[in-house]
Amino acid sequence: MESLEAVVEELLAGLREQLPPSGFRLDGIEVHLGAEVELSGEELASALAKALPGVEIKITLIPSLLHCLDCGADYPPDEFPCPVCGSAAAEHLHGQELQIARAWGQTV
Ligand SMILES: [Zn+2]
Repeated sequence: MESLEAVVEELLAGLREQLPPSGFRLDGIEVHLGAEVELSGEELASALAKALPGVEIKITLIPSLLHCLDCGADYPPDEFPCPVCGSAAAEHLHGQELQIARAWGQTV
């Protein structure tokens, strides 16, 4: 598991790449946090709020979803193996997200 500080640093580095270098006031960000990421949404929100004072922080939790490689069905992990065909061949479709999905603000 990555430390919270490292995660915040990574998110902020990605954010800086998306935003214009100057003349822009960031008002808010939305972070997608997958259910399988071992991080508390509240801890992440407060760490981000500390790093970005005055910026609205929205954390959206993304539920886990598996994708069956044999029949193509999508199903939640607690139904594993595939409830449609019984196959154990699956890939993670959702649940491992940790990214800034949206950032908004104004040019100043
Ligand atoms: Zn299946």
